[in-house]
Amino acid sequence: MKKLSVIVPCYNEELVITESYRRIKEVLMSLPNPTEIIYINDGSRDKTRWMLDKIAASDSKVKVIHFSRNFGHQPAVTAGINNCDADLAVILDADMQDPPEAIPAILALQEKEEANVVYCVRKSREGESLFKKFTAKFFYRLMNYMSDVSFPLDTGDFRMIDRKIMDQFDRFQERGKYIRGLISWLGYKQIPFYYEREARIAGETKYPFSKMWKFASTAMLYFSKKPLRLAISLGFIAVLVGIVLAIWFTLGKIYGFSNAETGWTSIMTSVIFFGGVQLLTVGVLGQYVGILFDEIKARPEYIIDEKKNF
Ligand code: UDP
Ligand code: MG
Repeated sequence: MKKLSVIVPCYNEELVITESYRRIKEVLMSLPNPTEIIYINDGSRDKTRWMLDKIAASDSKVKVIHFSRNFGHQPAVTAGINNCDADLAVILDADMQDPPEAIPAILALQEKEEANVVYCVRKSREGESLFKKFTAKFFYRLMNYMSDVSFPLDTGDFRMIDRKIMDQFDRFQERGKYIRGLISWLGYKQIPFYYEREARIAGETKYPFSKMWKFASTAMLYFSKKPLRLAISLGFIAVLVGIVLAIWFTLGKIYGFSNAETGWTSIMTSVIFFGGVQLLTVGVLGQYVGILFDEIKARPEYIIDEKKNF
């Protein structure tokens, strides 16, 4: 029988921990497999730490990793995978937006198809703002346009991965991890599982706009050099516009259809336009230099303060 781990990252989730533990546990008890839950407390400042410690004290099949501070959702999931020794793992959000009740069906599908990855595709998203739905939809499509690998659409980190995937995942050296992308990139046999994404059972999203932005830009920059190529295209367009304008004004002077002396507007427009293009291009370049800077420091991706039940 294959051992199954459920990896759950938690950041300030005191309102959902109890209910979420109850629901996951109920599902795991119904399976014949040996099971465990790995909670990663991503530097919560509320009662999450205390609550997880209490659960771990009463249930030896619950492992807990406490980070020294908030490192983010992706590092938390990474720590879960890095510290998992099971044959199969399911990555699940603490807020129950990804229903644990789907696990038996996912497991059955994995066994039937002998898949290395079963990634869960959202048929619908409940209780999320229009803005979130729109940005998410837009993001996954843009990602596919930008990247050289193609990713399944509308798929989060909710998925089942096997030992092979976990062993390969542990080898990734990069610090800015876009986990769903990296797992897609690995290849092997990957199959979809369709589900309805539910609303959060309590509390608020821990992904404010700033974190969403960081997440999206990491994904984009780590998976694609297209922004650099787009910058070059933009440069070409700007040069072309410049040439056309120059011809226009020269001919205008000769044939008298444009008076360049009074051309304050045209000068200002082109100065601002070219200035903008240059700043944009340097900015894009800067983003990649920033990544080099971060990666070359080779700092650990997360710091573990304490582990329970390992
Ligand atoms: N999370 C985390 N660290 C963070 C932000 C979020 O570990 O810095 C966890 C959070 O506790 C939850 C999961 O990541 O289990 C997804 O976060 P959330 O539900 O807030 O995101 P949303 O579903 O709104 O995109
Ligand atoms: Mg959520």
